[in-house]
Amino acid sequence: MEQIRAIVSGIGGRMGRLVAEGVRAAPDLLLVGGVDPAFAGSDIGDKIFGQRSGLRVDGDVGSAIGRVTPHVMVDFTAPGAVMENLRQALTRRVACVVGTTGLSGGDLEEVARLCQENATPALVAPNFSVAACLMMRFAAEAAVRFEYAQVMEFHHAGKKDAPSGTALATAERMARGRGTEMAFPQPERFTLDGVMGGRFSGIGVHAARMDGVVADQRVVFGGPGETLTIEHRTTSRECFIPGVLLAVRHVLKEEGLVFGLEKLLEAY
Ligand code: NAP
Repeated sequence: MEQIRAIVSGIGGRMGRLVAEGVRAAPDLLLVGGVDPAFAGSDIGDKIFGQRSGLRVDGDVGSAIGRVTPHVMVDFTAPGAVMENLRQALTRRVACVVGTTGLSGGDLEEVARLCQENATPALVAPNFSVAACLMMRFAAEAAVRFEYAQVMEFHHAGKKDAPSGTALATAERMARGRGTEMAFPQPERFTLDGVMGGRFSGIGVHAARMDGVVADQRVVFGGPGETLTIEHRTTSRECFIPGVLLAVRHVLKEEGLVFGLEKLLEAY
């Protein structure tokens, strides 16, 4: 069986390093390169694995693709970098697995169009953790039964976007399942600006940033005489790697843009 050749964009980052290690350790996948402007020209092994690998880090996705001809690009970079990386990969007909968060609705429309025009698939998932996917599914189911809901997410202090892609995707799924807005009572008087957080279809969305946390989320529902809390806690970034590898293995069998990991979790 032919190994799937993958490059990791953002290979010098927190997630990129772990994804590169995961790909390298999988017998059916082959790490053929990495992209990260700050490490351009370095040996991936020296910088990432602490052991020479003979694989070079490129400064941009187009150069990496030209040099090592991957089947799949995995992107864990930053909201300001991911779209250009996707344009470079999809126009060269390289399938994409995207974990970077902060893509807007307009960005997703552009990705879907690029996939179609170049007959190349892409999977964009705001959360590759299996438990987080279940949390979103359970929250969408519960949203139909309750009038009040708050999504509260906690991330490490270095996270660049807010709210998290997972928090927004959770609220979107909850709203889609219900069809009507949730109740969002407003106090008569505020003594602190911004204290109610954001609001999506009547669902309160709150983001907190602090050291000591990787990525946690709580969804709290309220109804007459009871509350329900669905909580997902991440204890290490390892939780994302099985989902990323699943996507690298199967994205080439998909068509167009696939949003979220759920479809693959159901199929494989
Ligand atoms: P990080 O540690 O900041 O890593 C991002 C890396 O990408 C950095 O080394 C950065 O370099 C590099 N980079 C910047 N621009 C680039 C470009 N144009 N091409 C290639 N590399 C580039 O961030 P992280 O914690 O790994 O998170 C990365 C993204 O994944 C974030 O959007 C985060 O929210 C998301 N995330 C998603 C999931 C999920 O399950 N979907 C899980 C965890 C994280 P510089 O530092 O020099 O800019």
